[in-house]
Amino acid sequence: MCGGTVMSSFYVEGVPGKIKVLSWNELEAFRSCPLYFRYECRGTYQPERFSAVRAFEKGIRFAVNEYYERYFADEAEKAEFQDPMDAYRLGFDYYPTKELHYRPGESQQVFEAMAGAMLDAFRESPAASPDEELIAVGYRFHGKLCDGFPPLQSYADLVLSNKSCTSIFQVLRLADQPWTAADLEARKDELLLLGETARLRSKGAKPKLRFLIITKSQQPVVQLLDVPFDAKAVSRAKAVFAEICKAISAERYFPNPVPAKCEICGYSRRCARWRGR
Ligand code: SF4
Repeated sequence: MCGGTVMSSFYVEGVPGKIKVLSWNELEAFRSCPLYFRYECRGTYQPERFSAVRAFEKGIRFAVNEYYERYFADEAEKAEFQDPMDAYRLGFDYYPTKELHYRPGESQQVFEAMAGAMLDAFRESPAASPDEELIAVGYRFHGKLCDGFPPLQSYADLVLSNKSCTSIFQVLRLADQPWTAADLEARKDELLLLGETARLRSKGAKPKLRFLIITKSQQPVVQLLDVPFDAKAVSRAKAVFAEICKAISAERYFPNPVPAKCEICGYSRRCARWRGR
């Protein structure tokens, strides 16, 4: 058991309306703004607009995944792959282009130039030439971390295996600034819980965990940062997970305005009405 009281009514398998599985993105959405979580992850709320930053980020993720697919492909298959910038555009176009909301200074051309610089920096970094074996590019799985709580759905952009057959889980994050040690400390729970889910599924093998960070800039910085997997840190992350699950189950939704997030939120008009504005 983790996180104190078990909430037996919280998760009922197969009962409509109950939470069957939670993803890390949903947990993060709730932590950053419970009202945003409600609009984005619960119910049938349509966003009023789509942030162009989200489209840009999706494009970068598509292109990095495409790069790894190509890196590990057989010689005969390599020719089938497209240019990374085509993969970027494919990801960007996933959102309805006409409805994208650009902030001052942003445009499709500005994002294209930045994407080119970021993908060049990535290709020149050690992250672009892993010497381990490929298990998967883009891997979604879920596992039950705590009795009485929903399973956590985890996602790794890249899963590798080294010579000692240790699984290595790599998660991509796009950042405004290079991460400091304090940033890593504040964000490592995601990887710890992903690692714990993997450990439970593989019945005990300890995974290796790393973030790949690429800064969103014309002079991008690429970082590969390891997160040590130890029992004490995992148990603390599980307690945090259980606390967030309890808060979600209580359905106490309220806005938590932070200018940088509200600027790219797709529900600002709905939120303003909720706040009586
Ligand atoms: S506009 Fe800001 S406070 Fe309102 S839902 Fe969106 S993120 Fe939350």
